[in-house]
Amino acid sequence: MEKIDLTYELSFPWHKHQFGYKWADAAPCSPWGEPYGEMDGGDLEKYKGIIPFALDGPFLVEKSFSIMRFPFEPLADNRLFAWFSDIIPDKESFVRWADEYGRLVDVEGNAQYSYDFILSPYTDESGLNVGLSTTTRRIVERNGLLYQVTKPDPLSFWKQEHRDLSLAVMLWEMALKDDPRLNGILEWHEDPGRAYVYPVPRHRLTEVDFRRIGKDRSYSPSFVLPPRRIEDYRPQRFNAKRAALTYVRQEINKKMRLYPLYIRFDTDENGGIHRVIEPTSLLSAMWHQFFLAQTGEIRLRRCSVCGKWEDMKTHRESWSKHKNCANYQRLKKSRAKKREMLNRDRP
Ligand SMILES: [Zn+2]
Repeated sequence: MEKIDLTYELSFPWHKHQFGYKWADAAPCSPWGEPYGEMDGGDLEKYKGIIPFALDGPFLVEKSFSIMRFPFEPLADNRLFAWFSDIIPDKESFVRWADEYGRLVDVEGNAQYSYDFILSPYTDESGLNVGLSTTTRRIVERNGLLYQVTKPDPLSFWKQEHRDLSLAVMLWEMALKDDPRLNGILEWHEDPGRAYVYPVPRHRLTEVDFRRIGKDRSYSPSFVLPPRRIEDYRPQRFNAKRAALTYVRQEINKKMRLYPLYIRFDTDENGGIHRVIEPTSLLSAMWHQFFLAQTGEIRLRRCSVCGKWEDMKTHRESWSKHKNCANYQRLKKSRAKKREMLNRDRP
């Protein structure tokens, strides 16, 4: 359990699957395993409105059947949100993430995320427990084949949630460093006094011409999505850093409404009471960490050499790089110097 200070406690057990996850194709179906695509008029009419027709795969599903869930405490490390924001948003990285930290939300219990039942052809790599239904899945037989009815999450959901957090963390980092690229990523319209953010993916920053973006209307790299409005930002004079931080806070508020935290009492062995704050999902936990990074209760810094995140509670205020990284840098410098001297001595 991670104690932030004496007044409250963050409690958040999460779980990951024994055999990990994979991406699979699936089709929307009724809770009884009847694909919507195969229904006729009357039945279809009944399900209209609740059917996630627009959902495209692939979907994240458990690799192999198991009732084993490994509980762990993701908030034991303050860097979780920063790590997630740094990963490359592709299928492989997301599966690696899920294998290590579990799903982003509990697809069974999260009301915000209520995509209904999906039918996917049932293959069990372990070869065990074929045909066993549990609380999280139902096995049905159709035309001699076994299918599982479960609630997987689509790749688009992972991409969208990653994009939102990654963009906010990137803007936050840039704002703290007064990064001049902010002036390209943000757009200010004097009249009627509105500011916008261009969602530039962090892993494609180097592909963007920052002198053109935001100034030249005809320039818009295909991977940059439509700009997002920064609400409640009506300054006397535009300030990129302030606008970026306003966007970050707006985004944190929005996400914490969507993925809330609960607060409850806990009693210690002496009968004393204290507050416990409990995130409802991994997303809720990560956005809360990001929130604490704004208030200064979590302090992270990247190593200036390797770029990896460190928690400043284990370092002095002056810390800027890992010891090993500093040594490596020194070695590289002295080698370069030697090479230069040798070249100079050559006739
Ligand atoms: Zn380093």
